[in-house]
Amino acid sequence: MEKRCHKCKVVKPLVEFHKLTKSKDGYQAKCKECKKQYHLQNKDRTSLRNKQRYQENKEEIKKRANQYYHENKEKCNKRKKEYYLKNADSIKSNVKKWRLENLDYVKWSRKHHYEEHKDRILNSQKKYYQENKDKILQRNKEYRIKNADRVKENKSKYHQRRKNDPVYKYSRILRGNIWSSYKRNGFNKSNNTEKILGCTLIWFFEEWLSNKYNPPKTHIDHIVPVSLSKTKDEVCALNHFSNMQVLDANDNLSKNNKYLSLAGLSKVLANHPNPTLIKKIISRSKIEMYQTVQNEVADDYDQVISELQNQIKVLKN
Ligand SMILES: [Zn+2]
Repeated sequence: MEKRCHKCKVVKPLVEFHKLTKSKDGYQAKCKECKKQYHLQNKDRTSLRNKQRYQENKEEIKKRANQYYHENKEKCNKRKKEYYLKNADSIKSNVKKWRLENLDYVKWSRKHHYEEHKDRILNSQKKYYQENKDKILQRNKEYRIKNADRVKENKSKYHQRRKNDPVYKYSRILRGNIWSSYKRNGFNKSNNTEKILGCTLIWFFEEWLSNKYNPPKTHIDHIVPVSLSKTKDEVCALNHFSNMQVLDANDNLSKNNKYLSLAGLSKVLANHPNPTLIKKIISRSKIEMYQTVQNEVADDYDQVISELQNQIKVLKN
């Protein structure tokens, strides 16, 4: 029941030794205390060596750890939980420190993870909201009361930004418009607004719309109406920047999705990445085409129009 330590040469009871199944008597040669001292004295060297060893055998180590975990799941989880509870404070502060030092990576990985699992995340959020609606609303209300100053400050920041940064303001409206154009046709907007548009928001407002968007006096109008689309891809195609124009609010209402200006259409076809799809959408619809005022278009206007009409006729037949 006793054993002599190789290091300190003291005879100690077996409980003072760590187990080692490979050895003859089932215990390590050095006592626990000596092991501990050795570890404390060589901490840096050991950790460096372990790091090196890990880098050299990464795949093998990962594979083995993974296998061990799956064979001992309960034990591992219990140990992990115990360790966490015991060291919660230092773990939390370490994590916080690490996150602050690696902010870019944290942001990137969060975004990446979201993109990768978007559908699942949105679904489970929705489900959670529906199941806990009362609780959430109550909590939000309490938060607003408790943090009234903060809420007020955020609100004023938001209004300030809307006031001073038109691109920000308009992009929020546009995002809403695009979102509702998906909804109206029975789909969910699942892509980033700039991805759908096919350009940056700044370029869209400043260059494509020439800074002429100024609600509520003017509206952003879909040249080819989104209501003609039958699939999610078509909704996306019709939200491309080339299908957007600024219209006077009144014009937009009178247009009423029944008419399509040929001049507008030729602009779409010239700038859209998939003009064939646009033609296909129009050709199966009953939308009426009309020519805008003659004097505002180029010399080859008639030619462009007749070509277009022929193309669409071909698609229709
Ligand atoms: Zn010893």
